Amino acid sequence: MTAIDQSLPVIGGPDLPQVRRLVTEIPGPRSASLLARRSAAVSAGVSGTVPIFAQAAGGGVIVDVDGNSFIDLGSGIAVTTVGNANPEVAARVSEQAARLTHTCFMVVSYDGYVEVCEQLNRLTPGDHEKRSALFNSGAEAVENAVKIARAATKRQAVIVFEHGYHGRTNLTMALTAKDMPYKHSFGPFAPEVYRMPMSYPFRDGDVSGAEMAARATLRIDKEVGADQVAAIIIEPIQGEGGFIVPAPGFLPAIREYASDNGIVFVADEIQTGFCRTGSWFACEHEGIVPDLITTAKGMAGGLPLAAVTGRAELMNAVHPGGLGGTYGGNPVACAAALGAMQSMEEQDLNSRARQIESLMLPRLRALAAADPRIGEIRGRGAMLAMEIVKAGTKDPDSALTSAVAKYCHGHGVVLLTAGTYSNVIRFLPPLTIPDELLTEGLDVVAEAFAAN
Ligand SMILES: *Cc1c(COP(=O)(O)O)cnc(C)c1O
Repeated sequence: MTAIDQSLPVIGGPDLPQVRRLVTEIPGPRSASLLARRSAAVSAGVSGTVPIFAQAAGGGVIVDVDGNSFIDLGSGIAVTTVGNANPEVAARVSEQAARLTHTCFMVVSYDGYVEVCEQLNRLTPGDHEKRSALFNSGAEAVENAVKIARAATKRQAVIVFEHGYHGRTNLTMALTAKDMPYKHSFGPFAPEVYRMPMSYPFRDGDVSGAEMAARATLRIDKEVGADQVAAIIIEPIQGEGGFIVPAPGFLPAIREYASDNGIVFVADEIQTGFCRTGSWFACEHEGIVPDLITTAKGMAGGLPLAAVTGRAELMNAVHPGGLGGTYGGNPVACAAALGAMQSMEEQDLNSRARQIESLMLPRLRALAAADPRIGEIRGRGAMLAMEIVKAGTKDPDSALTSAVAKYCHGHGVVLLTAGTYSNVIRFLPPLTIPDELLTEGLDVVAEAFAAN
């Protein structure tokens, strides 16, 4: 294809033409020259997935600096759930930025922070008395959940699970299961972290959720001591680990064990929260009420904001001044979050996530039925995945997984992978994506399997 000269969009959002359209090779000349500047200026430790530079995005597309329009099946890793450059988010951000950008909430308060906390307390599972605190990133929220649980229980040990992902800071690297790329060469890691077996139905065979939970809790009893444990931290559906949905009964049994032993049950809903799975929080699918819940990603329409929300008596157990940070709950990020939450409620994005599931699942299952290299289709709502294996086995095929992703990137689809074994293709479309683009995106995925 030849490069054509065209004016690039300066405004994104849902009014961008909702089409897949390639007008240059990938990467195009402008992206290629920016990629060269990128590698001359940016640390090689920060990698990239799709070799393009973004110009504008919205609805279900990302337009690059060469005018190519990509179907977005990644939402910047489950962040732009309400759509990129969402108009409600953009309007509130510019209004707030023109009024005040920062006072530091610990110095001079502002209403946006309080309103985000009120919304979190209202929307998260459970009708008990709650409090929230705001931070900048998911990892920071998880670290603070640990601080709160330790302060409240006067215990130290933290339980996490195989395949879990909780961030890249020192404590959250310790909580995260996977060596490469997250932890490799970065130790030593924080102590008093214990990793337990996770329910992973595709690889556990017929073991029930209750039985897997019993194995984990027996090990906590024998290896750690339940009365030493401050917190159990778990993603109700594991994100980076490969969209692993535990067998029914696993989460409720772990939740019950935590209650029975005075352990703070922390649901890390940073990837699953805010309509992604077809409900406000993924815990709701199994009727779980966490003691603390961590949120970030989808909450603020692309601005950096994270939170810990939970039982008032736990959240208030920390001494005054023990929680905070210079930027935590920045007013512009709070304005974005309030706009994002308004869009979620007004547009009933939980229903939209369930619609996306019913549109995508039959198609993905048909692909899997026709191709023995697709071992399993799983997930909930607009958080779906395929696990890729060598035909006739459960041996992970990471080479095929990256070949499929690469084919999609070269053919106008932004697609992400995941998994401990790097063999999972994950779908995280913005909930504003039109049906036709979803279908077309899956056509390209099918082509990618046919070509590999
Ligand atoms: C992304 C993620 C984190 C870390 O969030 P950052 O904002 O990248 O620090 C923590 N937990 C889960 C489940 C995540 O998906």
